[in-house]
Amino acid sequence: MDVDGQTSHREIRAEIRKLCLRFPGDYWRACDRDRKYPVEFVAALTEAGWLAALIPEAYGGSGLPLSAAAVMLEEIQRNGCNGAASHAQMYIMGTLLHHGSEAQKREYLPKIASGELRLQAFGVTEPASGTDTTSIRTFAKRQGDQYIVTGQKVWTSRAEHSDLMLLLARTTPREEAMKRTDGLSVFIIDMRDALGHGLSIKPIRTMMNHSTTEVFFDGLEVPAKNLIGEEGKGFRYILSGMNAERILIAAECIGDAKWFIGKATGYAKERIVFGRPIGQNQGVQFPIAQAYARMRAAELMVHSAASLYAAGRDCGAEANMAKMLAADAAWEAANVCLQTHGGFGFAEEFDIERKFRETRLYQVAPISTNLILGYLAEHVLGLPRSY
Ligand SMILES: Cc1cc2nc3c(=O)[nH]c(=O)nc-3n(C[C@H](O)[C@H](O)[C@H](O)COP(=O)(O)OP(=O)(O)OC[C@H]3O[C@@H](n4cnc5c(N)ncnc54)[C@H](O)[C@@H]3O)c2cc1C
Repeated sequence: MDVDGQTSHREIRAEIRKLCLRFPGDYWRACDRDRKYPVEFVAALTEAGWLAALIPEAYGGSGLPLSAAAVMLEEIQRNGCNGAASHAQMYIMGTLLHHGSEAQKREYLPKIASGELRLQAFGVTEPASGTDTTSIRTFAKRQGDQYIVTGQKVWTSRAEHSDLMLLLARTTPREEAMKRTDGLSVFIIDMRDALGHGLSIKPIRTMMNHSTTEVFFDGLEVPAKNLIGEEGKGFRYILSGMNAERILIAAECIGDAKWFIGKATGYAKERIVFGRPIGQNQGVQFPIAQAYARMRAAELMVHSAASLYAAGRDCGAEANMAKMLAADAAWEAANVCLQTHGGFGFAEEFDIERKFRETRLYQVAPISTNLILGYLAEHVLGLPRSY
């Protein structure tokens, strides 16, 4: 295990750091101001092969373990950049890799690895279902050798900057399914063909630059060969990818926390008020030290979850705890960093207010803290199901 948070994947850390230097704060500030997708940053990651890290070598990727992808994303955030522009490709790809047919893998994975195709959009959440995924209403009805998809998704991030979307839809109405988790299916949608032919996308402007959207399906024809795995088993396929998603997002939060703590420490040493550095006051240094300790504890949980994942063991509890603890550590560090900077923390040019807004998301998405606590209460502690 990476006990000091520095030992593993040193070369990856160094390479990502070098790449991030090409995208300083003013690049991200300009994107943020215009809510512009960071096309150049994502292109640089793609060209360097980083977005193909988890794709096996047989399909043109580098076949690296999840821990390597976690380090990449951590380092992106730690260097002030934002991995949210492209992180989804890493965890969405797992559903295709683990549950797709050989023909689907051969068709898509090499092109995703080379950057010819972008798989950045993951359509699960719907306006009326919220966190209760099994109550989604988007329906895919089989008609001959195709499915006709009707419904709506919300918060489908990066849909305008992706060629492919992984879509979760009902193929059996919830009332007719044996269990509420049955009757859901996963499709790979080629949005290049679909746009304007049954698929439309509407951007949602949010408090941070996230390129998120609403997606409407109005009789979209999807070839039956685009069904992933077996019809009706989609919920299980999506769930199995969620541990990877939680671990990778947790690693991003650790990166954010390190960025905030680094900024706060640097400023506390330099800023002179009442004739001495503000960091000489315990009222300033203790909150930073506390945020550091909490970040390090959360980091151990991220490594524990990643190690279990690599060993092929059940890591549901650890992945969820890692996501929650790391998101909390990042949010605490963000708050401490802002407070340490006093008024200057609110100035755009310091980048703190931007990162502050960005890291707040992880209290809610991809799963909110309450739902993680509910999972732990039920599945780890054996308490009655609360939702
Ligand atoms: C910027 C952004 C990007 C996103 N990107 C994507 C994406 O790419 N693809 C995608 O599919 N989704 C995406 N999401 C959706 C995200 O996963 C959901 O917002 C999240 O899962 C919470 O669902 P909800 O917003 O419907 O909240 P709700 O489910 O409506 O919950 C609202 C609040 O109530 C709480 N709550 C609900 N039920 C319970 C309960 N039983 N016990 C205790 N508390 C409860 C929740 O914790 C939450 O705080 C994104 C969201 C955002 C904001």
